[in-house]
Amino acid sequence: MSALDPSRETRPQFVALLEAQRRFFAAGHTRSLKFRDRQLEFLENLVLSNERKISEALRDDLGKPEQESFVTEIAMVLSEIRHARKNLKKWMAARRVSTSLVLFPATSRIYREPVGVALVIAPWNYPFMLALSPLIGAIAAGCCAILKPSEVSSKTSKLLHELLTSAFPPDFVTVVEGGVPETTALLNLRFDHIFFTGSTAVGRIVALAAANHLTPTTLELGGKSPAIVCADADLEVAARRIVWGRFMNGGQTCVAPDYLYVNETIAEKFLSRMRHHLQEFYGKNPALSCDYARIVSHSHFDRLERILEKSAAKSEVDIGGAHDRSSKYIAPTILKNVDWTSPSMQDEIFGPILPVMTYSRIDDVFTKLATTEKPLAAYIFTENKFVQDKFIELVPFGGGCINDTVSHLGSANLPFGGVGGSGYGSYHGEKSFLAFTHEKSVLKKSRRLDLSVRYPPYKPWKMKFLRLLFLGRWG
Ligand code: NAD
Repeated sequence: MSALDPSRETRPQFVALLEAQRRFFAAGHTRSLKFRDRQLEFLENLVLSNERKISEALRDDLGKPEQESFVTEIAMVLSEIRHARKNLKKWMAARRVSTSLVLFPATSRIYREPVGVALVIAPWNYPFMLALSPLIGAIAAGCCAILKPSEVSSKTSKLLHELLTSAFPPDFVTVVEGGVPETTALLNLRFDHIFFTGSTAVGRIVALAAANHLTPTTLELGGKSPAIVCADADLEVAARRIVWGRFMNGGQTCVAPDYLYVNETIAEKFLSRMRHHLQEFYGKNPALSCDYARIVSHSHFDRLERILEKSAAKSEVDIGGAHDRSSKYIAPTILKNVDWTSPSMQDEIFGPILPVMTYSRIDDVFTKLATTEKPLAAYIFTENKFVQDKFIELVPFGGGCINDTVSHLGSANLPFGGVGGSGYGSYHGEKSFLAFTHEKSVLKKSRRLDLSVRYPPYKPWKMKFLRLLFLGRWG
C-alpha cells in the first residue's frame, strides 16, 4: 500500500524516508532479539558517552541544572533502556493461552509483532527523555521510527539529530527537525503508530490527522493536576515534596502539581513551610540560584506573565511574582486565596506558579475533582488509609502518588499515561514495548476430529448438540 495520501500535501524527502523505512522493515531486519538488543545497546552507549553534551544542550534550552538533567532525563532514559534489554526476550515471546472445549482439539497463541514504522513527536520540557523514552519502546518492539523533536528546545533537537543519525541508518531510525510545517507534512503520511507527547490542543490535531489513515496513536497530553494536603499530613515532608515537584524544571513538568487543595485548618502553617523550603532550595533570590531553571521561550514567558499580572491585580501573590523577560526568569511563585474563578485556575499553568485553594470537607474536594477534566496526575498527602482509598476510588486521573509528587513516573512497572483530556494509551517498561506491538492471535487446529456438526446442512440434532456444547444443556 502506498504511504502517500494523494489528497494531502507532504514533502518528497519525508516520503522517501518513510518508504526507505518501510523497505527496511519489510526485509525483516528488525525482527530478531539480537538486532533489537544491539540497537538498544548502541543507544545506551551513545547516551553514556555523550552525557556532558546532553546536559549542556538542556542547560542552553531550559537553564536546566545538571542534577535535574541527570535524574529526570539521562538516568530515566538509561534505566528504560536497561529495563527493556533485561526483559526483551520475555516480552517478545509468544503467549500460549487456554482454548475452550468448543474449539477442541486446538491450541491458542498470541504472537507479539512490531507494528511497522512509527512516528514519535516530542515536546520541549523534557526534550531528551520524552523523545528517547518512546523511541526505546519502538526499537524494543522491532519497529523503525522517525523522531520529530520539539523545535522550541532547539539545542536538544539539534543534538538528538546529530547523535541518532550518527548511530543508526536512516532507514531504521532517523530524526526530522522542525516545527509546525514539518510536523504537518509528516502527519500527512501513513504511519503504523504515532506516539505524541504535548499539549491537548495539538493532540487533537494529531488524532485528526491519524484518523485519515486509521493510524493508532498514543497521546501523552497535559492538564491541571491537583495535590491535596489533608490536616493529618506530615506537613514538613508534604511541603518539601510539593515545592520540589512544582518548581523543578521551572515548573515546566507535565505531572507537576498544578494547584493545591489544603485543609483550611493547616493552610497558614503549610504556606509557611512551603516558603521555608522554597528559600532552602533556591536561596533568598532564586534568580541567582544555579539550581533553578528558566522559561523555555519568550512566548511561554509572556503567557505566564499575563497570569502573574492578573493574579497580582487580585492580590493573590503570597510569595514570588518577580520576573525578567530578558533572562526568561520567573520567580517561584505561590498564590493564595485562590478559587476556581482565579486567572491561574483557567488552564494548565506549566510554569513556576502554584495556586493554593483551601477546603473544609474532603468529600467536597473529591466531588469537585470527579467532575473536572481528568488530569494527567493527582496527589494526596494523608496518613488516613480510608481517605487514601476514597481518593483512588473517586478521583479520576492518569496516575499519581500518595504522599509524594512526580515520582510515579520513575517506576518502569507503573504504566504512564493520561485519561480523558490528558490523553490515551500508556508507556514505560513493558507498556512501551506494547505501544508499538500488535498482538496477533492464532488458533492452531488439529486436522483430526472434524465434526460435521458445524457444517451445513444444519439439522435440529446439530442445534441440540451445539446448545449442549455452548450452554451445557440439551434441547
Ligand atoms: P505542543 O503541543 O505545543 O508541541 C508538541 C509537539 O507538537 C512539538 O514537537 C511541536 O513541534 C508539535 N506541534 C506544535 N504545534 C503543532 C501543530 N499545530 N501541528 C502539528 N504539530 C505541532 O506541546 P509543548 O508546548 O511542547 O509541551 C507542553 C505540553 O505538553 C503541556 O500541555 C504538557 O502538559 C504536555 N506534556 C505532556 C507530557 C506527558 O507525558 N503526558 C509530557 C510533557 C509535556
